[in-house]
Amino acid sequence: MKYISTRGGVAPKSFEDVILTGLAPDGGLFVPDQLPQFSHSEISSWQNLSYEELALKVISPFVDDEIPQSDLKQLIEKSYSTFRHSEIAPLVKTGENEWILELFHGPTLAFKDFALQFLGNLLDYTLEKRQQKVVIMGATSGDTGSAAIEGCRRCNNIDIFILHPYQRVSDVQRRQMTTVQADNIHNIALHGNFDDCQNMVKASFADQSFLPDGRQLVAVNSINWARIMAQIVYYFWASLRLGGPDQAISFSVPTGNFGDIFAGYLASKMGLPIKQLVIATNQNDILHRCISENDHTTRPLEQSLAPSMDIMISSNFERLLFDLYDKDGKAIVDLMTDAKAGHMRLCETVLTKARQLFSSYRCDDKEMVELIRDTFRDHDYLLDPHTAIGLAAARECRADLQTPMVALATAHPAKFPDAVKQAGYPSDPELPSHMENLFEREERFTILDNDQLAVQSFISDNITA
Ligand SMILES: *Cc1c(COP(=O)(O)O)cnc(C)c1O
Repeated sequence: MKYISTRGGVAPKSFEDVILTGLAPDGGLFVPDQLPQFSHSEISSWQNLSYEELALKVISPFVDDEIPQSDLKQLIEKSYSTFRHSEIAPLVKTGENEWILELFHGPTLAFKDFALQFLGNLLDYTLEKRQQKVVIMGATSGDTGSAAIEGCRRCNNIDIFILHPYQRVSDVQRRQMTTVQADNIHNIALHGNFDDCQNMVKASFADQSFLPDGRQLVAVNSINWARIMAQIVYYFWASLRLGGPDQAISFSVPTGNFGDIFAGYLASKMGLPIKQLVIATNQNDILHRCISENDHTTRPLEQSLAPSMDIMISSNFERLLFDLYDKDGKAIVDLMTDAKAGHMRLCETVLTKARQLFSSYRCDDKEMVELIRDTFRDHDYLLDPHTAIGLAAARECRADLQTPMVALATAHPAKFPDAVKQAGYPSDPELPSHMENLFEREERFTILDNDQLAVQSFISDNITA
């Protein structure tokens, strides 16, 4: 399998080359030049596979012969052995033909563990084989950082530097990152906001001359193809539990950077019968405006109670557009120039095509808090704020009651006590037992000014691997 850039300006690359980098050199994102296709009968035959066995089926064609099957199988098994539920991604019924897919049983309690446990193992395997060492640099508003640190803490060939905005992530989120004690883990609290962190990372990827010879930066946010790939699996998994592929299924996905829902789109293109994909946004609703009114105008970012979806420009949307525009890299360059300037309009035929599968809904903090309250009262089930937004959108956009609707639960409620308490929950929601003593563990992080030279010298001085 070869990978190409969404902006059409790069020679095709191998799977391993693609996961060991960030953006393509032309500024685009890597995508497979052709998607694997699974027939109805092939998908049917996967009914009784374990999550890990299913993952091997779905992921193998993307990796091709670059990693031997037996090694890939081991990497997958290792990645999901850290999950604390025997089904890895269990379904919970919350209404008539309505289900929640719990994706928060990994080590850091968010769906990002699905991809980052795997990516950490995959990188370490590849680097070991190549006798190469790399530096991971990433910015986080909370969930990505801890999932990446958990995924890479045991990797011998990786130093990982995660920037979070000083005093602007929740205590649980910060402690999940800063209490991991390993010499290759480096937490930087930057004086600034998330955008400052993100810009620092972008500038560093663009000019990597501050790194020692032979080192390169690797991205762990969802521009890394391996993250999207790993997330395709649970769409197949949920469908197979609910009568698929004979029965089409719908999904509602709380959306920020468009990675998670893009994986659902790929599942559909690969042959999984999906009726609807619902894009659920909070008050930062640019994707909802784009799908519903063809209005992709940037507005100032608002802080919400679902902070992992407080994003204005969703990087993976470019991957969808590339596909909808029939892989026309030049069209994407133009669209992205418009988007960057603040206003992008899609061509109507493309929008019509998108709407055959996608619908969208915006759920603000108030509506989200009410749904957490009602769901706890009526079903004794505590939703996290992101999941609540997905569930609200599922109910609003649902085309019919015959098609099972699956709302993706992207985080455990204990990660977001503020929203949960506003919904009337009497205390901080309880952390699972493996994190009970989180608040007693020793923290380690370095506070730095929002200064490129300071951050980059810190990195080059602290590389250990
Ligand atoms: C990252 C995240 C999201 C958004 O996922 P994208 O792939 O960026 O769309 C939603 N909910 C939670 C809890 C997250 O951590």
